[in-house]
Amino acid sequence: MHDDRLFPADPTERSIARRLYGEIRDLPIVSPHGHTDPAWFAYDEPFPDPARLLVIPDHYLLRMLYSQGIAMERLGVPRLDGAPVETDPRAIWRLVAEHWYLFRATPTRLWWEHSLEYVFGVTDRLTPVTADAIYDRIAGCLARPEFRPRALFERFRIEALATTESPLDPLDHHEALKASGWPGRVITTFRPDPVLDPDTPGFRANLDRLGEMTGEDTATWTGYLAALARRRRDFMGLGATATDHGHPSAMTADLEPADAARLFDTVASGTFTPAEAEIFRGQMLTEMARMSMDDGLVMQIHPGSHRGHNGLIQRTFGPNMGDDIPGRTDYVGALQPLLNRFGNERDFTLIVFTLDETTYGRELAPLAGHYPALRLGPAWWFFDSPDGMRRYREMTTETAGFCNTVGFNDDTRAFPSIPARHDVARRVDCAYLGRLVAEHRLDEDEAREVAHDLAYRLAKEAYRL
Ligand SMILES: [Zn+2]
Repeated sequence: MHDDRLFPADPTERSIARRLYGEIRDLPIVSPHGHTDPAWFAYDEPFPDPARLLVIPDHYLLRMLYSQGIAMERLGVPRLDGAPVETDPRAIWRLVAEHWYLFRATPTRLWWEHSLEYVFGVTDRLTPVTADAIYDRIAGCLARPEFRPRALFERFRIEALATTESPLDPLDHHEALKASGWPGRVITTFRPDPVLDPDTPGFRANLDRLGEMTGEDTATWTGYLAALARRRRDFMGLGATATDHGHPSAMTADLEPADAARLFDTVASGTFTPAEAEIFRGQMLTEMARMSMDDGLVMQIHPGSHRGHNGLIQRTFGPNMGDDIPGRTDYVGALQPLLNRFGNERDFTLIVFTLDETTYGRELAPLAGHYPALRLGPAWWFFDSPDGMRRYREMTTETAGFCNTVGFNDDTRAFPSIPARHDVARRVDCAYLGRLVAEHRLDEDEAREVAHDLAYRLAKEAYRL
């Protein structure tokens, strides 16, 4: 990997970007939003083979390979019906190597090559010729104690890492982690979609389970709200500083209490219209904001993903297989009921993500550049890429500045890629700042301060870490 990767081609801008990056490259990693498995850190067992660590759980890899006609079964992805799939990790690895050219100029390739070089010392390009040697090198590493989850966590200089759990999760891994005495800071995040979204399969059973876990009567509106408040407290006991809401839209609602209670009875009965489900989800975002005013949890909403777009893939393999597709998303109208209630509060933080980048300049930056409670999440998911991040800065900075954004978060399931993802964000931000300095729109000492904010301070402060 070249030392100047992702820096501007213009020599003046590049030399400024290099200097800025030199100041922040070694800052600790703050990872306030992600989907790593707390069991890794609780029990510190060795990671499995290279394919199970790096290929099978990575939906970015799966989607590209699938789009070029490679069956998911050949990549070792388990089928819901238990029918046989490839189980030889080396065969899966070779298949990826044969098709590695598909990832040219994608962020997947950047992340992978950074992980392979930085974590495992691999400097050859992945090809059918090098595939076996690289596989053997990684497999050899994984057998050693310094490649166990906790050792890597420490080597990556992670200051805080948040995982994401459902209110129905018993949080036993986080309990075990806390009891273990290991000083690494791995915290949970409260993601209540399965008990807030009536369209979740098994929603009614989920409400029952929530009642059993909390001793509250979740057949009633007040009992349901009390149960949610109680689970939020439980999560805070295991370090949570934030909630996370993956609703299909950013729609919020602010109903009269009696109307909200009636709507709860309707959705809890199991017979409701799609519009009723949507209003209920919207009402619950406002209820969650109200609870955040009480308990201080930061609230994240990341709407706009049409999850499980491909019916065949959903039926055969289930969710998170690379067929979630962004859709047009309204924020200005959708967030207004919640912002009317809580948008002017300075003690409340609402972080909004986007998958519809046409809204950066038109809606999100103007909103975040006005409401004290609102912050913009980073260039997310499909825009977690060098060009996506650059466009994000170009479209939001002039209206919202830097301090209405929350730095970077990696939102990843792929633990070895965490340093790579933060490194890409740091480089792209320094490249952007390098241009501002070269154009005399910012002095270099100010740019240094901003680079530090974007890499470290803003995430820590926004997420109250
Ligand atoms: Zn996420």
